[in-house]
Amino acid sequence: MTFSEIGLNNNILKAITDLGFETPTPIQQEAIPFVLAEETDLIALAQTGTGKTAAFGLPIIQKINDSRNQTQSIILCPTRELCLQITKDLETYSKYMKKLKVTAVYGGANIQTQIRALNSGSQIVVGTPGRVIDLINRKKLKLKDVEFVVLDEADEMLNMGFKDDLDTILAETPEEKQTLLFSATMPKEVMRITKNYMFSPKTIEVARRNEGATDVEHHYYMVNARDRYNALRRICDVNPDIYGIVFCRTRRETKEVSEKLMQDGYNADAIHGELSQQQRDHVMGRFRKKTLQILVATDVAARGIDINELTHVINYNLPDDNEIYIHRSGRTGRAGNKGISIIISHSREKRKLQSIEKMLKRELILKKVPGGDEICAIQLIKLIDKIVKTDVSPQIEKHLPIIEEKLSHLDKEDLVKHFVSAEFNRFLSFYKNAPDLNITASKGRDSVRERGRGKDSGKNRRGHSDEGFTRFFINLGKTHKCEPQNLIGLVNEYTRNRNLQIGKIDILQGFSFFEVESSAEKDVLEGFSDSQWNGYKLTVEISKPKKDSGKRREKSTRSDKRRTGFSGNKRSERIDSKSSGGRKSFKSRFKENNSSAGSRGKKR
Ligand code: AMP
Repeated sequence: MTFSEIGLNNNILKAITDLGFETPTPIQQEAIPFVLAEETDLIALAQTGTGKTAAFGLPIIQKINDSRNQTQSIILCPTRELCLQITKDLETYSKYMKKLKVTAVYGGANIQTQIRALNSGSQIVVGTPGRVIDLINRKKLKLKDVEFVVLDEADEMLNMGFKDDLDTILAETPEEKQTLLFSATMPKEVMRITKNYMFSPKTIEVARRNEGATDVEHHYYMVNARDRYNALRRICDVNPDIYGIVFCRTRRETKEVSEKLMQDGYNADAIHGELSQQQRDHVMGRFRKKTLQILVATDVAARGIDINELTHVINYNLPDDNEIYIHRSGRTGRAGNKGISIIISHSREKRKLQSIEKMLKRELILKKVPGGDEICAIQLIKLIDKIVKTDVSPQIEKHLPIIEEKLSHLDKEDLVKHFVSAEFNRFLSFYKNAPDLNITASKGRDSVRERGRGKDSGKNRRGHSDEGFTRFFINLGKTHKCEPQNLIGLVNEYTRNRNLQIGKIDILQGFSFFEVESSAEKDVLEGFSDSQWNGYKLTVEISKPKKDSGKRREKSTRSDKRRTGFSGNKRSERIDSKSSGGRKSFKSRFKENNSSAGSRGKKR
């Protein structure tokens, strides 16, 4: 099917021909004729990169009456970047329709400018929910003539805490309108919106970008949790031309990783919710121009980044939701380029890897974290290539006699060695005797069994419950109203080290167990040696093997008969702190999500 067969008018056809669009994408083939012909609502399961902006934008532009100035369509989206992108796209599609005006309204920018644009009449308004509400309250944005409402990236808007805002805005729009909802995923909250605000909607779904796509390879590396950063360094070192995004789970982790990378001399920077809009634009500008190679970002901050040439997407930590992994990896391998999506994983994530594989319908390939020799060889070649390609300045000519005199005692081979070493010694010494970071585990079921991860696994060594983690006992439990996030907070506070990896947390009745990376055993024991919680003196010990655990309990907890008969994990509240947002509680992660959502999001 061609665009003209789809029923678009000549002005629009001319504009999209100028853009070089030849055939409609699958979502466009379904959505455009539907919106042109029907007035009922539409749910489209589609993510960025599928051509969804044109899928809703083109038919809306065609159906709008551009001789009336009233706002006839409101398009809501989660971020400023996406808002500007959609506005720019719609302006391009309508460039031969001189009377049609599209206005972007988003937080963090001068509201007066936006009000002036609205006052001059704008048939299509694209906005982030917070700013839209602000303008509605100031009576500068009137929605009574709205005929089309688009909720773009609805799942993301709800993730960012815009639920109430969406309710408020939708309540402002007339009942007689067509609502088009675009979402990459369909969580409960999105379903609620569709139930409450949409009438007999048609649902269309297009294949996810990555499902079965051949242009993204999915690699994973298995390391101990504490070696995550070093593995990232090696991955960057072995790919000197990397141009990619490193995804972290939290704002704090994003800052930490990017700061470390910068300190270690990598061409990296970060975007996260704490940056001002100018700072963010500055970083994004450098990344777009490729003067910045590595962008460290949270999922929310990376929204709206539409760059086709990324070589790698690196999952420094996996997201809770596998669909987010699909989103992340879909940022590479675009526009006919090959891309690699990398997961830096540890042994606890085997099941998660298996579920991602199932969802992708693709194999995740286990890769070895490169050793020092391999990295040095690649970096050396890179250096030599750079030397070969360097333009020789004519200015050097006049200095040559003295240079030659000074180097006259060296033959060619020595000369090469000296020049290369001058550039390269730091690198060589860094990787001299570099340890092997790989752990032997793989995601396969056999290897899970091989490693004996049965119910008694990990209890054969004192306190060492899994690779790299030590299990600690603490005399705080449910009776003290202790929750996992309290324990995480205590570990942060008493070790004064926010980079520690925390493993499983088991909250029991009168006491609990928690795991911390083994390298920090001493820090934990010393840190907690004189510790308290709400005035209650804390005791923390390395958890002993089962046979003497009874003794330890007697000694270290307030004696409690119920405890003595307690049988291991059966009644425990077993959570994996990493799968609940690393070292943060759900609440603090939610805050982090909001803070990048413009001014309104921040307040919540
Ligand atoms: P979107 O999913 O709306 O973010 O679009 C992804 C990219 O695909 C954008 O750069 C669009 O300009 C481009 N695009 C959208 N529709 C088409 C099409 N029919 N043919 C070629 N490129 C398209």
